[in-house]
Amino acid sequence: MVGVLSAHASVVSRVESQKPLVVILMGPPGAGKGTHAGPLSVHLGIPHISTGDLFREHFRQQTLLGKQAKEYIDRGNLVPDELVLNMLFDRVSQEDCKAGYILDGFPRTLLQARSLDERLIGKVQLVVLNLNLPDERIVERITGRIACKDCGRPYHKTFDPPKVAAICDVCGGLLFQRADDTVAVVRQRLEVYRSQTAPLIDHYAQQHVLKEIDSQNEKGVVLRECLEALPSLPATQDIR
Ligand code: ADP
Ligand code: ZN
Repeated sequence: MVGVLSAHASVVSRVESQKPLVVILMGPPGAGKGTHAGPLSVHLGIPHISTGDLFREHFRQQTLLGKQAKEYIDRGNLVPDELVLNMLFDRVSQEDCKAGYILDGFPRTLLQARSLDERLIGKVQLVVLNLNLPDERIVERITGRIACKDCGRPYHKTFDPPKVAAICDVCGGLLFQRADDTVAVVRQRLEVYRSQTAPLIDHYAQQHVLKEIDSQNEKGVVLRECLEALPSLPATQDIR
């Protein structure tokens, strides 16, 4: 009986591993989703897609969507599902996503998660990495964080400062602080996270795709834990 079960399990995992890989990075604001998404994307050879970055890019380009989204973002509230879903599904339909992708900041509501389930069901190998960080660490991390306006590389004023103040080590770009990274807005974002996004942890636990990651550790340790939680072979099949 054990032999039958393990033979079956190995067939399932081999078939599973041929499917494109979709990684969802979950966790409260400041847990390190954006920090680890970059290196994970390089390791896995699949793009990093951040809905927050997409909205900020829309705003920079002064699109209607960018202006609409900014009203919500600056108050620490969620952008309405319909706006998010259209933008995200449009992005993951592009050529570079055919072997899989890393989602950062999506899904954030149960409706977003169910819409993603419908789109992906049976077609991909889904792994959800839940980055955990105690509340008291969140505010200090977020209010000190800065990022490069050119390459997006994140820094922290105290914990991970650039070599030269306000200048990116990697590309020489200027570092900036996000308008929604203030103490007051962070508190609102945390409340929204607890009421609307934390329930997704159960949603994915029930699908047996959830992996817990302790995000308090040093960056390199967290990245290794993330990589160890993922299947080793990125996939190749077209899922668009
Ligand atoms: P963080 O993970 O640091 O909180 P993000 O850059 O992911 O920040 O998101 C910034 C803001 O963009 C959110 O507070 C929210 O207003 C909006 N946003 C991003 N992704 C979504 C989403 N999936 N659904 C609704 N709003 C979103
Ligand atoms: Zn840079």
